[in-house]
Amino acid sequence: MRFDVITLFPELIEPFLRTGVTRRAFDSGAVEVRVWPLRAYADGNYRRVDDRPFGGGPGMVMLPEPLYRCWQAVRADRGLPPRRAPGAAVDVPTVLFAPAGAVLSHATVARWARPSQPGAILVCGRYEGVDQRFVDACVDELISLGDFVLSGGEIAAVALLDAVARLQPGVLGDADSASQDSFHPALDGLLDCPHYTRPEVWPGPAGPMAVPSVLLSGHHAHIEAWRRQQRLLATARARPDLLAQARQAGRLSETDERWLAQTLGL
Ligand code: SAM
Repeated sequence: MRFDVITLFPELIEPFLRTGVTRRAFDSGAVEVRVWPLRAYADGNYRRVDDRPFGGGPGMVMLPEPLYRCWQAVRADRGLPPRRAPGAAVDVPTVLFAPAGAVLSHATVARWARPSQPGAILVCGRYEGVDQRFVDACVDELISLGDFVLSGGEIAAVALLDAVARLQPGVLGDADSASQDSFHPALDGLLDCPHYTRPEVWPGPAGPMAVPSVLLSGHHAHIEAWRRQQRLLATARARPDLLAQARQAGRLSETDERWLAQTLGL
């Protein structure tokens, strides 16, 4: 799959592609990423990409024309016609990162991570945002990182690319790693359990802290049962909405329900 990132700050995206475990996905081409410097598609000596908002108000708005030119260049590079006929099926989707978008979730990431996916053109906004006419003409989907405002869409683009890359086969050291993470259907959409490593007893700031003894028992079934209970506990405490969803979807076993009733009175 291929992602094209349209940005005023390519230098924010590029180091990320060369760092950490997800680099395997980018180096191997499993997730191909091309970064497009928007300023190169702007006019004049100043290569202006923004202007004051009509109607007044603070800040600047990204001009539609440089965005449109860059978007067309991306499409041409992908062997697609420079524009889509009105009403035509989406060939490669264009995503704009925006607070108004649907909040990114595991389900959305998993959809983008499918090998059959063509990827997307990712547009990173800056300033007060993007001229709405570009959005209306070229954008298929808005994605948000959450209910807060970033200075630009680059961090959101990197978040999406990272999450998609780590779901690609062979990217994480252990093949099962991703399926053992929070939100994954393999864990019934629950949150992850706590993790411990050496030493068995850590001196700690307020006295010795031991690893839960079950984890040292070598008893695989007991360890798995403890982890399941810890996932239920973490989810009940931090995200009761996810627990309710798992319950509604019939993903909790009788053992889960008994444990929840006995331990948490749920
Ligand atoms: N005026 C906009 C508003 O209030 O919704 C905020 C603009 S923000 C300063 C500049 C750019 O950052 C946006 O165009 C968008 O691309 C990106 N951005 C800001 N917050 C975001 C979020 N929560 N999720 C995704 N992108 C975000």
